[in-house]
Amino acid sequence: MASMNPCPRCNIPLTLIEVEGERVLMCPNCEGVMLRKLDHVMGMSEEQLRDSAACETLFADHPNIDLTPVAPCPVCRQPMRRYIYSTDSGVAVDACATGHGIWLDDGELAQIYDYIHGEGAAPGATRQEKVTEVLRGYGRKRD
Ligand SMILES: [Zn+2]
Ligand SMILES: [Zn+2]
Repeated sequence: MASMNPCPRCNIPLTLIEVEGERVLMCPNCEGVMLRKLDHVMGMSEEQLRDSAACETLFADHPNIDLTPVAPCPVCRQPMRRYIYSTDSGVAVDACATGHGIWLDDGELAQIYDYIHGEGAAPGATRQEKVTEVLRGYGRKRD
């Protein structure tokens, strides 16, 4: 279902999807997502995430999208604030200053998920190795 909210990257209408009862806006082109909050997604299992309507955003497969410009909020169109999630995750996210939510470019949701969980990774695994856990599962499902 198309919404009135434009993608901050592509400027085409975002698609309204439902993820575990939460309404999420996703771009059908660049597969970025606008979440009102992160908690409910981070509380889902890897299987729930992979089987959800948000699965397309897990794997970063749109290398041609320019992620450098400041993203305008899809709801209020004001420039969002960019910061590194949880200070040391290495994932730069964009948040609406007036609380409409958080924009995650393609693949960033999986990176944050693995930053928070990462328990499937071997002990002593580097952050890079942890980040691949959700994506490996996603690949398996797709093969
Ligand atoms: Zn887009
Ligand atoms: Zn906003």
